[in-house]
Amino acid sequence: MKTSILAVGTELLFGQTVNTNATFLSDKLNHMGFDVMYHFVVGDNPLRLKEKLSEAFLDTDLVILTGGLGPTQDDLTKEMVSELMGRDLYLDEKVMEQLMGFFEKRGRKMAENNVKQAFLPEGCTPFYNASGTAPGFALSVDGKTAICLPGPPRELKWLWDNGVRAYLEQFMDKKMFYRVIRTIGIGESDLETLLMPVIDGQTDPTVATYAKEGECTLRVASQRDTIEEAEAAVDEMIERIDALAGDFIYSYDDEELKEVVVRILKEKGLKITSAESCTGGLFPAAITDVAGASDVLSSAYITYSNESKIKEVNVPAELIDEYGVVSPQVAEAMARGALQRAGADIAVSVTGYAGPEADPGHKAGEAYIGYAMGDQTGHYAVNTSRNERKWNRNYILLRMLRAVYLLIR
Ligand code: ATP
Repeated sequence: MKTSILAVGTELLFGQTVNTNATFLSDKLNHMGFDVMYHFVVGDNPLRLKEKLSEAFLDTDLVILTGGLGPTQDDLTKEMVSELMGRDLYLDEKVMEQLMGFFEKRGRKMAENNVKQAFLPEGCTPFYNASGTAPGFALSVDGKTAICLPGPPRELKWLWDNGVRAYLEQFMDKKMFYRVIRTIGIGESDLETLLMPVIDGQTDPTVATYAKEGECTLRVASQRDTIEEAEAAVDEMIERIDALAGDFIYSYDDEELKEVVVRILKEKGLKITSAESCTGGLFPAAITDVAGASDVLSSAYITYSNESKIKEVNVPAELIDEYGVVSPQVAEAMARGALQRAGADIAVSVTGYAGPEADPGHKAGEAYIGYAMGDQTGHYAVNTSRNERKWNRNYILLRMLRAVYLLIR
């Protein structure tokens, strides 16, 4: 079903509020199989609101409006929607009761203008709001449906879960099932090329690629008569994807790489440690983000200076003199030293230039990731060709996690 989202609120146009309602709704609608075609934003201006709503109805059948349902004079969404769709407002007793209860519970007197919120368009489906004062509603006239929801994101989400989602299911003759696959180590266009045999000409299941910072996500979705059929179609497609790009896939269930790494370390009873320069502790921070990290992380070393690399993780000074501190040899020595010092099963290390500056003869974004596990020692070279410090540090962190993942998977 072709859908638009129309957010109402002058604060959105001023840049004071980010339109998170639109991203929330788009994501949910998309996952349900609705075609979200437009996002509109209008200020608290009744004429422009009506104009945009008519425009949205020209080529979409469902318009979800957010904001402007409050008690004040400039909250006019409901009035404009009713006017455009030719419906009068009536006083909804249940909303009135809820409003009185809401204020009573808080020991506050209900203001006169709150009564305005108890009026709803004739023939609508109300969405009673237990998380705030403004009810939402859906109004269908001549094949066009408007759904009006309050602006506060918390209330919007509550109503989505408690009414709107179920209401929208009537528009779906097919059932949708999807899985999100996460990959790392391959760019979006290379991944698409690799998957061309399964993507090309495919209408169901659909395979969509999205690039995120340093990694790439695939969404495989199917719409069939039953959820079981859709799931089977998705799983069959995933098998084909696996045969083509399995080396780059680390999750078939939309898990983050750090979650996968901690899960596998835990399953295998392995302890990890790290020695870092340019990422300055991002690695243990990522691991400890995941619940249960204490089972897998022993200790971690931040060895920013040459001296600390020598003192903390036993990098031979001659190695630094001979190859330079940002070198594969030093990265490997850091990993081996950390492994021994911590008495862990696996160590990962990094030495590099986060940027924007780098020493002569080097570039920002150049780094070497070392690893050690048992007798095995090795490294990966990273070159981001970017001088954005934050981006580089996050990218290098992902590559460290990937180095560990490749060792333990
Ligand atoms: P209320 O009953 O609170 O007046 P309302 O439906 O009239 O609800 P608004 O007054 O338009 O909603 O917005 C209330 C608050 O919700 C805003 O101050 C803003 O912080 C937040 N908000 C509104 N629209 C959005 C949006 N599209 N995305 C994110 N937040 C929003």
